[in-house]
Amino acid sequence: MVILNRYELGSRRKNIPLIDLRAQQTRIRDGVDRAIQRVLDHGQYIMGPEVAELEEQLAAFAGTRHAVSVSSGTDALTAVLMAKGIGPGDAVICPDFTYPATPECIALLGATPIFSDVCYDTFNLDPAGLPGAVKTARLAGFVPRAVIVADLFGLPADYENILRVAEINDLFVISDAAQSFGARYCDKRAGNFGIAATTSFFPAKPLGCYGDGGAVLTDDDALADLIRSIRLHGKGERKYDIVRVGINGRLDTLQAAILLEKLAIFEDEIERRCMIAERYAQMFGQAILTPKVPAGRLSVWAQYTLRLLNGQRDVVAAALANKDISSAVYYPRPLSKQPAYQHFPVSKTGVSIAARLALEVLSLPMHPYLDEATQEEIVTAVQTTLA
Ligand SMILES: *Cc1c(COP(=O)(O)O)cnc(C)c1O
Repeated sequence: MVILNRYELGSRRKNIPLIDLRAQQTRIRDGVDRAIQRVLDHGQYIMGPEVAELEEQLAAFAGTRHAVSVSSGTDALTAVLMAKGIGPGDAVICPDFTYPATPECIALLGATPIFSDVCYDTFNLDPAGLPGAVKTARLAGFVPRAVIVADLFGLPADYENILRVAEINDLFVISDAAQSFGARYCDKRAGNFGIAATTSFFPAKPLGCYGDGGAVLTDDDALADLIRSIRLHGKGERKYDIVRVGINGRLDTLQAAILLEKLAIFEDEIERRCMIAERYAQMFGQAILTPKVPAGRLSVWAQYTLRLLNGQRDVVAAALANKDISSAVYYPRPLSKQPAYQHFPVSKTGVSIAARLALEVLSLPMHPYLDEATQEEIVTAVQTTLA
């Protein structure tokens, strides 16, 4: 992700960044400075007291029994798959339209990702495609074991139907909530769907730290214990017992300390994001395909993503760049068309929506500190290009 700093860049005029991390930092800087100072003073850089404190607060925020912090969203996914014993011969279904970490953890463990299609309106995994993906896995000689659902751009996927179809097909569900921590689906926060959810604290995510970080959220005591062991090289009960193959997957104490400061303002930031998304929708009106939130869900707007038809996407992106307005294409290619993943099976029901979205999506500046005048400028730039 390209993160520009509007105050440091732009000589002629201010650049409008996709995500303005500087505005947030200005708001919390004193608290962050003190938090970092405290870590430097106590010196417990690894698994210090801030890590335990953060885990408690994350679990309370999400409404899950456990939050186990880890070193990244990718390691969170990998640790859950390791805990479930996923490996060679197993197939794990995932959306064709998502961040590469989703299939990466499957392939890293020697299992086979099966790419399945997404819904045009929500960008998220289409539950109707799952039976076809299961058949594809079996025909290719693999045991379909799980599905990883990604809540793209901050919007929870259709969990009711995904969980129902997954159960019929004997699959367990992992929710990749890297973009949706804080979002809601039917009165529950993201993190409560499937056997476990994972999230990422990469700086540009809705809840980000100042480096890499992530967490696994789950209600399953045994699974949480396994993740705690896996992130510490497979440590057992006693200090020098190594009872399984693990990873170096800890979250730094410094990042936990920073996250505690950011979590304190996160609820307010979510409200601002929702207000800003609403303002975009009103400003654009009906003429443009703006993102919609289905009833009963709340997005945290990790991205505000338009669909621009008939080749207009690249024209609009170029026009915005000309006006120093940042925009981004998440994602320009479905994973099944990426060199690293094109040899893996694609669901027999196809992935045509993912291919179409890759040509149409354009994400506009979105962060809690986007003011109305700047939004007006962005919307006008899009509208005049299309007029
Ligand atoms: C960012 C992201 C990840 C990976 O998170 P990292 O912390 O960067 O490893 C995984 N899945 C999705 C959908 C993401 O957006």
